[in-house]
Amino acid sequence: MIYTLPNSSNKNLANVRLEIRALQPQLIEWRRHIHQKPELGFQEKLTAEYITQKLQTWGIEHQTGIAETGIVAIIKGEKSGDGKVLGIRADMDALPIQEENQVSYCSQHDGVMHACGHDGHTAIALGTAYYLHQHRYDFSGTVKIIFQPAEEGPGGAKPMIKAGVLKNPDVDAMIGLHLWNDLPVGTVAVKPGAFMAAISIFNCTIFGKGGHGALPHQTVDSIIVAAQIVNALQTIVSRNVNPLDAAVVTIGELHAGTRMNVIADTARMSGSIRYFNTDLRDVFESRIEEIIAGICKIHGATYRLDYQNLYPPVINDSEIANLVKNAAEKVVETPVNILPEYQILGSEDMSFFLQEVPGCYFFLGSANAEKNLNYPHHHPKFDFDETALVIGVEMFVKCVEKFLN
Ligand SMILES: [Zn+2]
Ligand SMILES: [Zn+2]
Repeated sequence: MIYTLPNSSNKNLANVRLEIRALQPQLIEWRRHIHQKPELGFQEKLTAEYITQKLQTWGIEHQTGIAETGIVAIIKGEKSGDGKVLGIRADMDALPIQEENQVSYCSQHDGVMHACGHDGHTAIALGTAYYLHQHRYDFSGTVKIIFQPAEEGPGGAKPMIKAGVLKNPDVDAMIGLHLWNDLPVGTVAVKPGAFMAAISIFNCTIFGKGGHGALPHQTVDSIIVAAQIVNALQTIVSRNVNPLDAAVVTIGELHAGTRMNVIADTARMSGSIRYFNTDLRDVFESRIEEIIAGICKIHGATYRLDYQNLYPPVINDSEIANLVKNAAEKVVETPVNILPEYQILGSEDMSFFLQEVPGCYFFLGSANAEKNLNYPHHHPKFDFDETALVIGVEMFVKCVEKFLN
């Protein structure tokens, strides 16, 4: 296959080695193919087939069907040395969003879209697998590339760990990246310690008593109860959490009523809670129920609450974070493009891997405002600067060389 070299004056590619840079047209082709066939969590069948077919063609050892659609590719280094094992994780799932981009590689699946960049993660992981297999004489030890389903929920990391992906050979450390449109292409955010937040979620139904809009004294208005609950829940962060601990409560759904002159008998809401400090897990769980129960009681309403602690926080190991930072210093153009203090209250089930083995999750800048490629993740017009793909491969390859040599 003949690859054409992209424009070498591109400043974001300044330090990316030529051999990896030459993969860029392929990376873009793979990413766009996956982008056109987006699939929801645990339904990534076409995506998994595409990955499997590539690994087969290249002669890379792999296992399929792990936690439904997950795949593990195993690349053994042929250089003599100690046999450490590095895991690299890429998520494959898309979101239930109707794409609004007018591009040739637009989603062909109605109502489903790669609006978080996981198509890019999969392409970067494929490029890394291809390059490392070609250069297996340059490193010792083993690289396990884990293609994971359902990151957007309900979570594919936990069942993959349960299925034994970190065993045989046992993974010593894990790395992973997220393309990130809050940062310009050519930047890397990597931080030891808490990097992304834990998430808990809840669904709540308020049961009041419906009736005529002109006769409120005969009813229990579930909308009044729900409105007070929504407001009161915001006092948990402002009054029960240490102001030095970052946390957020978001009510993302509130549904009630059918008509302007009918008092609604039920109201339903759902929300998510994010925090770094895991001591807050029980605080949120108990305060949320206390507030809902208390407000329902004073109004004579009842409730049903389903509460779930979903993902723990993403905690990076300081040694592996340092390794990623050193890799970034070689790849991105200048040190100012490395952000060592960046954190967000977003959540990721990469955290389950990092609970099992030391590792590091980092952000790879992917926005380009000049090209209008800076819509936020989960937006129907989300798209990213594909230059980031080749930078992602170089980052992973640098980390492998540092960890396994
Ligand atoms: Zn997402
Ligand atoms: Zn994502």
